[in-house]
Amino acid sequence: MLDWQNGHLYSARFGDVYFSRDSGLEEKRYVFLRGNRLADRFGSLQPGTAFSIGETGFGTGLSFLCAWQLFDAVASPGASLDFFSIEKYPLDEEELSAALALWPQLRPYTAGLMLRWRRRVPGWNRWSFAGGRVRLTLAIEDVAEALPETHGIDAWFLDGFSPARNPEMWTQQIFHCIARASRAGASFATYTCAGVVRRALEQAGFQVRKISGFGRKREMLQGELPGPFPVRPAPSTAIVIGGGVAGCAAASALADRGLVVELLESEPFLAAGASGNPIGILHARLSAGMNALHRFVLASYGHALTLLDEKLPVDDVMRSECGELQLSFSAEEARRIEKLAALNWPSHVFRSVDAAEASALAGIELAYGGLWFPGSGWLAPPQLCAALLGSPLITLYTGRTVKSLIRTGHGWCVQTEDQREQVSSLEAEIVVVCTGYQVKSLPALANLPLTPVRGQLTLIPATPASRNLRTIVCGSGYLAPVVAGRHVAGATHRFNDTSINLNVPEHAENLSRLREISPVLQRLSDDVIQDARQLEQLEGRASIRGSAPGAMPLVGKLLPGLYTSLGHGTRGLITAGLSAESVAATACAQLLPLPLSVVNALSPARRISTAAPVSDKG
Ligand code: SAM
Repeated sequence: MLDWQNGHLYSARFGDVYFSRDSGLEEKRYVFLRGNRLADRFGSLQPGTAFSIGETGFGTGLSFLCAWQLFDAVASPGASLDFFSIEKYPLDEEELSAALALWPQLRPYTAGLMLRWRRRVPGWNRWSFAGGRVRLTLAIEDVAEALPETHGIDAWFLDGFSPARNPEMWTQQIFHCIARASRAGASFATYTCAGVVRRALEQAGFQVRKISGFGRKREMLQGELPGPFPVRPAPSTAIVIGGGVAGCAAASALADRGLVVELLESEPFLAAGASGNPIGILHARLSAGMNALHRFVLASYGHALTLLDEKLPVDDVMRSECGELQLSFSAEEARRIEKLAALNWPSHVFRSVDAAEASALAGIELAYGGLWFPGSGWLAPPQLCAALLGSPLITLYTGRTVKSLIRTGHGWCVQTEDQREQVSSLEAEIVVVCTGYQVKSLPALANLPLTPVRGQLTLIPATPASRNLRTIVCGSGYLAPVVAGRHVAGATHRFNDTSINLNVPEHAENLSRLREISPVLQRLSDDVIQDARQLEQLEGRASIRGSAPGAMPLVGKLLPGLYTSLGHGTRGLITAGLSAESVAATACAQLLPLPLSVVNALSPARRISTAAPVSDKG
């Protein structure tokens, strides 16, 4: 798709250029950075505040990198930048790398973008850079679909090829969406001075000016919406309740935004509940019909991979990027997989494989083909929890059980009891509740629709044949490759069962689910099941997940200053990170990492049972 023509990076699809080889960087700086007076506006940001840019047409990301570089140079260390961009036709890795290789002066920034680019998913992507100081939200979809799903933009880069070549990016409807997604006083800049664009911007409420264009372009447009530029006050203290993956991710996302965080865990150690399994798999179960849940899971999967790249590098003990095979083991699964395969998404997300290729990837003979997720793998959730708490702004208190939450004049007071029944209280401007199903013990939150679901996994001693397994294989149950001599097989579901003792029938269930996957695993399963003593001696772990209606977690604001990240069910390793971003962005009045319709679908306030109204008094 990309081509060079007369020194310009050219799109054959649109018959137009991305930028010029000689002056592309200077042109972006002139049109978008100067056109929006960003040096001054970045320079005057107060610590703790965020500035948000919106862009139509991410292309090579050059405008993003220029904006980041300027922000780095002039903004106060405590301020942060949100960059929201939309791209319907993303470049592949090679094209992006070739395009950005032109600008050695941007290399430190380009390298970070390239690392995340290989994790991109269709739909929304949220990537953090520079320890969270810069956040990129990239919507890989049509501009008309993405624009109504965001708000809170301070400055716009209108960069969608020329209006003559790509009129869809410059319609009246698009400018109305842009105005609606803007904050008061928001500015825009664009290289075009086409009358149709000027009139449409005016019609949408912008004050529009023509100024001198860059280089040979005589004129360009800039302007702003009327109204004072509001200051968004951000909180500076937070209490997070719950030391599992959801709570540790929330603490990390808040600390990235400069908040001082106290993390409370009732057990004497982190990851005591469902996050304490020795190994967890990254299982993105998607459907071709992209409802709110599946948009959320897909965005979360892409986000989780970049978060793991940053916090938990691949090694033999903590994390493996061994890939996952989701197998067409039933007629229903085959239909789901066929529909997904027909989407033709980039193969780094997933691709369709037949049984022969699946077997070659897995290293053992498999009975079915299916979908191959090369970026998936397993990780040790307790290690991830620990890795998320690296910031000096986070203090962990273990052995502290929360007894009540009481609203105060400027936040919340959290009363806790330690294991010697000593009572103490902590105060903060915001509280994020991440206790999983145990939220039922907190009076103010007892009406949240959460169901406990017991899950048991089984540790199976490897056989010489099963040791060849190289990937996660997933039918109605799953099996991970051998780690420390054993495979993890999982997992059972027992609704409303809160016991955590291991039991033999659930081991047998995990084992028998492997039989359908492969002849090798059938032998492994049969050998263990037929030997009653071996079955009884199997090790494993049982824990309780919290499940919310429709498997849609309860993420967001419940009451002023009170947020939840709950109900992640079996998907917490995938969804906890992006949920934490969403909660932290909401609490700090920053640009949201997810489409507004998905944020609304996740909202705990909208889904709380109305039978007994929520009281904020503990
Ligand atoms: N800002 C970019 C940069 O820094 O490299 C250049 C953007 S380029 C001029 C315009 C971009 O808009 C292209 O990457 C193109 O694929 C994208 N685009 C065109 N039509 C679109 C649509 N309907 N929705 C979303 N993106 C679109």
